[in-house]
Amino acid sequence: MIPVSAPYLSPEDERSVMEALNSGWISSEGPYIRAFEEALADNFDRRYVSVVSSGTAALEIAFAALELKPGDEVILPDFMIVSCLFPILRVGATPVFVDCDIDSFNCDPEKIIEAISDDTKAILLAHIYGLPVDLKKVISIAEKKRITIIEDAAEVIGQTYDGSKCGSIGDISIFSFYPNKHITTGEGGALLTNCKQLKEKFDYYRNLGFTSERFIHTDLAWNYRMTSIQAALGLSQLSAIERTVEKKRTIGRIYNDLLKDLEHVKLPIDDKPYAKNIYWVYPIVLTGNFTGRSKHVQNQLRHRGIGTRPFFYPLSRQPLMNGKISRYIGENNALKIYESGFYIPSGVPLTINEQELVATELRAILK
Ligand SMILES: *Cc1c(COP(=O)(O)O)cnc(C)c1O
Repeated sequence: MIPVSAPYLSPEDERSVMEALNSGWISSEGPYIRAFEEALADNFDRRYVSVVSSGTAALEIAFAALELKPGDEVILPDFMIVSCLFPILRVGATPVFVDCDIDSFNCDPEKIIEAISDDTKAILLAHIYGLPVDLKKVISIAEKKRITIIEDAAEVIGQTYDGSKCGSIGDISIFSFYPNKHITTGEGGALLTNCKQLKEKFDYYRNLGFTSERFIHTDLAWNYRMTSIQAALGLSQLSAIERTVEKKRTIGRIYNDLLKDLEHVKLPIDDKPYAKNIYWVYPIVLTGNFTGRSKHVQNQLRHRGIGTRPFFYPLSRQPLMNGKISRYIGENNALKIYESGFYIPSGVPLTINEQELVATELRAILK
């Protein structure tokens, strides 16, 4: 079986983890956490970083830090992972869903702007599948209206938008370090900001809301701490980020070449004026006779030993929403691509031979 995404763990990763283990620093105390946070801040042009136990935990903390009230609105992409929806619902705010562009999978900036109301307190800008969202106009309007930007950069670690590093753009930005992301710590995540008060809130919420007076608590909080073993892995993974992104771009370009004449398939966008795709995943959308048949084609690929993953299912249609959608801006593109799209193997250890095999099998199925 060719896995859809296997992590690449190097000898340096092993050395770094063993060093942490042998040092005896295995909890979230000690030098590794601070070293990883400083290296992340340095690399992504931020003043402050707090590492946490997952990308989802980072989003929970980000929204807790905003202190939203019922009636406050948060704009977010409909074509997105549920990790972005949970914290909005949990704090009692109202999610406003913006549909994706059918070609880039990212939110159309004009639709985000259309979604803004007097109650909008935050906009969650999420970059999808390796290509950043076109955010310049949204950011400038948000600044004028004092709307907080949360940037979910989990899928674009190592990407830039018009020269700025993804992860450096939001009032709060978040990363995930899940094994399919460009930096992995097994499980893990980070919050990035330039605001000292926010950094203090992040550290407070990830650590049970401890105050200077130990065991006295005034707020609900979490244990979302990262371990030093993870931070040690993160440090060596971070030092390889350029190589990782280069390899992902190469995988993307090889597929573009192998699949360019294939009928019934739309390939991802390689290039936008503000960024070149880094192919966090390699998404394809079935067309023509195969429109709406992603499940069928994925099954066929599985029988031929090729792993795939479905696209996100629209958040506005999740059963947990009970159909109670206050506002939705768009034309159900997210549902359309969910029914016709999936992504094919693109982990860093993938070989050219494996890519050729994927292309051959796809060609046979889509005849
Ligand atoms: C992976 C991912 C997350 C969640 O991260 P976890 O570490 O798996 O909790 C959040 N947002 C986006 C865009 C992601 O791709």
